[in-house]
Order: sequence, then structure tokens, then C-alpha cells
Amino acid sequence: MALLFKSLRAMFYLLLPSETYFENIESVPNYVFMVTELFMTFQILEFFICIYRGKNRPRLNDTFSSVTAGIVSRIPTLFLQSIELSAYIWIYDRQSLFKRLPWNHPVTYWVAFLGIDLGYYWFHRMAHEVNLFWATHQTHHSAEDYNLSTALRQANKRIVVNTPSHHRVHHGRNEYCIDKNYGGVFIIWDRIFGTFEKERREEPVAYGLVHPINTFDPIKTQLCHLQYMFEQFFKLDGWRNKLALFWKGPGWYPGVPRLGDGKFPPIEYPVKVHNPELPNYVAYYTFIHFLYVLIQYASVLKSRGVSRVKRQQ
Ligand SMILES: [Zn+2]
Ligand SMILES: [Zn+2]
Repeated sequence: MALLFKSLRAMFYLLLPSETYFENIESVPNYVFMVTELFMTFQILEFFICIYRGKNRPRLNDTFSSVTAGIVSRIPTLFLQSIELSAYIWIYDRQSLFKRLPWNHPVTYWVAFLGIDLGYYWFHRMAHEVNLFWATHQTHHSAEDYNLSTALRQANKRIVVNTPSHHRVHHGRNEYCIDKNYGGVFIIWDRIFGTFEKERREEPVAYGLVHPINTFDPIKTQLCHLQYMFEQFFKLDGWRNKLALFWKGPGWYPGVPRLGDGKFPPIEYPVKVHNPELPNYVAYYTFIHFLYVLIQYASVLKSRGVSRVKRQQ
């Protein structure tokens, strides 16, 4: 029960600094595993609250697509996380500055918190402004619904902290939403670096990609942009253009600024989303298959958490 309450607080950033720093790696809890079950509980709750309040309930096809994409996106981290961790340790061992910061002091905590969030801002911005990175991030933006399965951010201090409204704008394909609100926990980075935009009531946010992909195929949702880049690579003339394709924005083509010509297809209201109907038996089969994958995935996460701790003991 105490652990459950702690996971709940961890999910909403309601931990005291002293609860989040640890003297060595072995004592760091497996946060992703800790909150995964809670996250799923919230998704189920959201589903029933939407039905109760007569709102559009999360669609199963869209939810399956988001959760599957989430699982697929975690697969590389099962192998790569140790690289990330090694990089941290490598830098820490070589930078005497970090060693002078006491590991259990609130100042260290806040410096690290702000530093990580600033890093997140720029990494996220790069994921949108550099084609090659966009190829992996676009999956997160392909959802045409916006609910817990797409993202979870909670806060109220709209000026400083990122809010659901700010992040809705980030997920919009309306012209005023493109390349805006990259912030993670704080929205101040967007205000500082000029990428902040307020949600507009008169122009409701239409979610998804500028050119909707109209599929729930998990392989297509992951790879469609890479395929597009591959085709462009052969179409473009000259090596200069071919190379520019990788580091310029996803909307770039020869003769326009780095981030494209600034023209986007207009939104037609009411917004139509991709929503193929399945025969009931296929829907039931998919649901059971999906649950099975989810359970297997949870057990992989769990055993990995355990083996990591064991290895280091
Ligand atoms: Zn994004
Ligand atoms: Zn998001």
C-alpha cells in the first residue's frame, strides 16, 4: 500500500527531493515498472469516466495502436539503457565539478531537475526539427485521439509548468500548433526559446500528423516516415540535397527554409479520424491477443528490473 501511494506520488512529481536521491545505482527503484500498472489503471478509469460523462470514450483501435507503439518503443531501451547509464557514469568520473556536488543535497536535486528538463526540451525540439529523429518521434504524434494512452501530464501552474492544454497544442496539426510547446515538466523553456503557443478556443486542436497516415498497422506507424525519407533520398538531385534531407526539418524540400514552407493542409471540421470497423470476432480476438502481449511485456520489464539489481549485488 505504501509503495502504491509512493508510485502514485512519483507519477505526479509529488516526491520530496530527499525521496529521489540514492547513494548508489542499486538502490534506485525501477520507476517505469512502478508506474506502468498505475498508468493502466488510470486508462481504465478514464474509459469509464468518459462513458459516464457522455464524452467520446477512448477508441480501442487507437488505444491498442498507442500502447503497442509504446511497447515497441521500449524494446530498444531494454538494450540501450545500459549505454545511457554508462555514458552518465563516464562523464561523472571525468568531471570533477559533479563530484563536488553532494549527492544528497536539494541544490543538487534542483540543478539536476532543471538540467534534465532543459535537455529534454532540446532533445524533443530536435526530434521535431531534424528529419532523421522525427522518423522515430512521429509515431507518438500519429494518434488522432488525445487521452491518457497518448500522454499524461498534470499540473495547474500554466505559466511555469507544462499543462494538458499546452501539450494538446504540441499534438495539434493546426498551423498554429506546428513545432510548438516542446517542454517536459516546465513550459518556461518554450517561453525562453520562442516556441510557446497558447491553445485557441476558436480553433479546436485537431490531433495527429499533418498528413494523416490512416492506418493502425504497428509496422507502418513505426516505419512510414523512414520509408518516405528513403524515397525522397533517391528523388532528390545532388549529394548536398540528399544529405540535407537527414538533418533539415520534416517539411523541408530544396529551395525553402530549414523547417519548410510554412504551408499546411487546412483542417476540416468536424474532424474525421481514421476509424475502421472490425467484425466482432476480430475485435475480441485482438483484445485477448493484446492482453496477452501486455502481460508478457510486464513480466519482461519486471524480470529485467530484478536481474539488474541481482547482477549488481
Ligand atoms: Zn513531440
Ligand atoms: Zn506527447
